[in-house]
Amino acid sequence: MTWIKSIVYPPACFICCQACVPVRQFPGFCRSCLSRIQWISDAGTGFFWPDQLTHAVISDERIYGTAFYEEPLRSCLIRLKFQEQAEAASAVAPLMLRAMLKTKKPCDALVAVPLHRKRLKQRGYNQAALLVQSICSLSGYLDASDCLERIRCTRRQTEINNKAERSLNLQHAFRFNDVMWQKHQFSSQRPGVIWLVDDIVTTGATLQEAAKPLRMAGFTVNALVLAVNVKGFSLIRDV
Ligand SMILES: [Zn+2]
Repeated sequence: MTWIKSIVYPPACFICCQACVPVRQFPGFCRSCLSRIQWISDAGTGFFWPDQLTHAVISDERIYGTAFYEEPLRSCLIRLKFQEQAEAASAVAPLMLRAMLKTKKPCDALVAVPLHRKRLKQRGYNQAALLVQSICSLSGYLDASDCLERIRCTRRQTEINNKAERSLNLQHAFRFNDVMWQKHQFSSQRPGVIWLVDDIVTTGATLQEAAKPLRMAGFTVNALVLAVNVKGFSLIRDV
């Protein structure tokens, strides 16, 4: 009966809301809207982590993004943050998964950048966690978001313009929860590869701090974000 339903209620594009024949790989969008997304071409190359630019040792860990923080993806991200969260997460998850698979890098688990419990209570949900849930349900990867905690309630990064202050604001804000990791089925795989997931990256300070306890615990950490914000941008492309 699905075909009858699709005639009576044809699927609508998440961006333009027009009824459309969705693109098979990305069922949330129409062709026209997909063509307007400012893709990061050759997403497989990634961006350096901020501390890789100041240290002599360069690992092959990178920050990968789907597209630049421009329209029409910008509106998707706003809807993910403020309304229709679950619908937005499932629309954009295939875009993020494709960017991740392009890298051909291994993955033992995905972990969302956590919110502090106080902020989680205010907001009611963590958009990064919704992205991880959607990506994991598409791919079968392990969602180990419960292994990373935000133990300090920091100021919002968007309220701070100074780069050094942004970094200081987040110091020791995150903690790896080994007990939770042991509960997951891949507990024997350490050190393994974790993909840290967030909706957007600007300076990379949040990702950098969130990755610290995971790296201390022995993991290799790559990051996956939906959008890369080039305004105030300090990440450098690995070419
Ligand atoms: Zn559309």
